[in-house]
Amino acid sequence: MNKTIKVAIALVTAAVAGAAAAVLLNSSFQKQIYEEAARHATARQNTQPFADDALRIAVCGSSAPLPSAKRAKACVAVFAGGKFYVVDTGPESTENLVLWNIPLGKIGAVLLTHFHSDHIGDLGELQLQTWAGSRPGKLDVYGGPGVDQIVDGFNRAYAQDQGYRTAHHGEEVMPSATWGMVAHTVELDGPETPAKNRTGLVLDDGTLRITAIEVDHAPIAPAYAYRFDYKGRSAVITGDLKDHPPLATAAAGADVLISEAISKTMTRSLGKGASAAGRGNTAAIMHDIEDYHIAPEEAARIANDAGVKLLVFYHLLPSPDGPLARRLFTEGMSAVRQEGWTIADDGSLYTLPIGSKDIRVGRVNG
Ligand SMILES: [Zn+2]
Ligand SMILES: [Zn+2]
Repeated sequence: MNKTIKVAIALVTAAVAGAAAAVLLNSSFQKQIYEEAARHATARQNTQPFADDALRIAVCGSSAPLPSAKRAKACVAVFAGGKFYVVDTGPESTENLVLWNIPLGKIGAVLLTHFHSDHIGDLGELQLQTWAGSRPGKLDVYGGPGVDQIVDGFNRAYAQDQGYRTAHHGEEVMPSATWGMVAHTVELDGPETPAKNRTGLVLDDGTLRITAIEVDHAPIAPAYAYRFDYKGRSAVITGDLKDHPPLATAAAGADVLISEAISKTMTRSLGKGASAAGRGNTAAIMHDIEDYHIAPEEAARIANDAGVKLLVFYHLLPSPDGPLARRLFTEGMSAVRQEGWTIADDGSLYTLPIGSKDIRVGRVNG
């Protein structure tokens, strides 16, 4: 190629690049592109979790209190019969539901396992976002004795915000009548015993039955897990608990058990590091948390005893990011349960179609 042709090609390339840059830098063109993107973003309602008749479980927060950039704190959304139910509202978890474009007005209720902050911190935000998402009534919140205090506190904390928003957007957009939460105390059957093996009915609408299951998270009480039974499919979701073999009775025959889990090997390393760095408080906390959480292999024994098909770990303490950490986190599993278990991330989705024994493992469309 002679020099003149090379120069001509360079000039043409520069002219084309310059013209493209001029178009891209043109503000009315930028506005057009943004409008198109915004049209897609706002039009989208995620119908995936309601697509066909199934019991679906989406992990909206897979982390415990230790910070993780990739994970919200404890939250599990259960989809059944055209509604969804949220078990625990850990900090940042509502944002996952919003980012997934879940039609938030379809919320059925919130169920709190216990009142540690990593399980209730986003309750105000979930109330707000589902209200703004045209929830047809106040938000029902179920939990053990003391749930009224939690609900009353969040209602009070957000009352001024409600006033601002209704005044600014009007009653039609942000109606006063549907704002706020109503607490429902779930009582367990029979007197308390050291076995901590009571259950209590939360709701039964003929197709969906939700049962509260007492668990041992001592010295924290009340502490519940919840069982969902829907048209022959079932899932049990724990909050926090220590090794608690009686759970196998209440979880018997469940398709899926979503269990919290701690790796004491990993929290001990974190404690050692904190201690070496002179962070005595953090080291003490790493030590103290060992006695009221459950190890993966302990949860696996319960899952085996209950005949659970799939065991899912969440509320990961600490967050096992990367293949090495994931292996270390579940190092005790091979001796107890070689398959039929998995580690959840935010967005993990488990679909249990009605009339089938299938369990489909996938992701929420984001
Ligand atoms: Zn927790
Ligand atoms: Zn707890």
